[in-house]
Amino acid sequence: MYLNSAPPPQKNSIQYDGRDLMSNRPILVWFRRDLRLADHPALDAAAATGTPVIPVYILDDAPAGAWALGGASRWWLANSLRALDGDLRERGSRLILLKGDNVAVLCDLARAANAEAVYFTRGYEPFIRTVEMALHVGLKEADVGCRRFGGHLLVEPEAVVNKSGEPFKVFTPFHKACQAKPTPSSALAPPAELTAPARWPKTEPLASWGLEPSKPDWAKEMRQFWTPGESGAQQRLDAFIGKGLAAYAGSRNSPDIDGTSRLSPHLAFGEIGPRQIWHAVERASGEHPARQRGADSFIRELYWREFSYHLLFHCPHLPEKPFRPEFAALPWKQDSQALAAWQQGKTGYPLVDAGLRQLWSIGWMHNRVRMVTASLLCKHLLIPWQTGEEWFWDTLVDADLANNAASWQWVAGSGADAAPYFRVFNPILQGKKFDPKGNYVRRWVPELAEMPAEHIHAPWDAPEAVLREAGVTLGVTYPRPIIAHEEGRRQALEAYAAVKTAGRDSV
Ligand code: FAD
Repeated sequence: MYLNSAPPPQKNSIQYDGRDLMSNRPILVWFRRDLRLADHPALDAAAATGTPVIPVYILDDAPAGAWALGGASRWWLANSLRALDGDLRERGSRLILLKGDNVAVLCDLARAANAEAVYFTRGYEPFIRTVEMALHVGLKEADVGCRRFGGHLLVEPEAVVNKSGEPFKVFTPFHKACQAKPTPSSALAPPAELTAPARWPKTEPLASWGLEPSKPDWAKEMRQFWTPGESGAQQRLDAFIGKGLAAYAGSRNSPDIDGTSRLSPHLAFGEIGPRQIWHAVERASGEHPARQRGADSFIRELYWREFSYHLLFHCPHLPEKPFRPEFAALPWKQDSQALAAWQQGKTGYPLVDAGLRQLWSIGWMHNRVRMVTASLLCKHLLIPWQTGEEWFWDTLVDADLANNAASWQWVAGSGADAAPYFRVFNPILQGKKFDPKGNYVRRWVPELAEMPAEHIHAPWDAPEAVLREAGVTLGVTYPRPIIAHEEGRRQALEAYAAVKTAGRDSV
């Protein structure tokens, strides 16, 4: 059904005891969130067999349900698939694109291509684990091999347990346990060439999938800002090591400077693997000891990503339900007007608005600002963290189920090792501390561009003459705060304290 014509002749296969010793039957490599050629154990193993390799990507939104790829991720995916296809073509191969039910498509393709086996990188999302199990069964019935490989994480979630054999719930001991393990093995080189099958299966045109926006074209700034694909990821890593790594520990909290790696979308789509990053950073700090502190701090962040996956793996309901069940009783509010103001970056808190507009514009937001914007939503406004999580899911190019869910729960206070419930970020002080000159706000909230630094994070406190001089009319050119900070904080503490009490009572 998928082949242009008849299956390839089995010319090179050597028969022995009725079994192929050197079969010419192709291996399908099923790509998912591993859109790279280097350090790709499944692809490496397939290439090493010397048999033809058929790389395939399947668009299947059904299993993920509400967590099907969001708009920004779809834009990224289209560009990443294009890049992967280009990289494969340089090695005499290509990427086959198909749409439909993952298991049915792979089983059909395996039969039609007379494939020996399907190789793939394992996933950790609950729905993809279900698909993997179904695929295993389907391929077995079709008498086709099935091999699952690692590659997305430094440490598999089953491999780190506490002294009682349980999964970790706190980051620091989890991190220590990971560090006690042997250092990650070296990253694999990309295969120099890939044997093509005698005939390629049919592929669908990428454009027919409608992954990219046209009218309106909201991806203009994203296009200028990012280079999806494996070489874009490598360039980003090299640039960060050269310019950002040494100062990372000090600058990672400053949204006004380019102080972090911005590797997150590349990691989310697997255009680069954590093992490649780990080794490159270790090598770089070995060469220049001045980079050591930055390297330690950066690698610690990579382990936060590992921790998120650990949590999602052991607690599959993490994206939907609070990790600490007592938080389900929190008296959340449904306020569509407040939600829209937050989504559009019109809350009247300049740091928050800058973050949400940065997100809308380039599909990415600085981590410090993610924390402050998330806190305003689920603490000051008492809007469920899941609502914010869904918005981020749709708008982030680095949307990652594990990181997004674990981070939202961290901010809401309901997660593992979360910020204590009484920590309510003060969006004004956070602005003054982490964007002291106001340059981040000026970049993303142009209506405040002329405000002097001392007033830019609380324009409502500025003297009338300063506002006039800056061309700001509160409530007209820029909104007043959606809720006074002290009022929001008080409400949040009351609501959260009630939950804590209820949780204690019910134990
Ligand atoms: P760097 O500082 O350069 O860090 C390097 C890498 O380490 C990142 O690319 C990321 O993979 C990992 N990392 C860094 N910080 C964290 C963290 N706090 N938790 C887990 N991993 C981390 N990250 C996502 O990748 N996808 C998401 O959907 C996502 N949603 C978030 C939602 C909220 C509410 C918050 C507070 C954070 C979220 N994060 C998410 C974590 C973090 O904000 C981003 O990973 C980071 O900002 C990416 O920028 P960077 O690559 O420059 O990070």
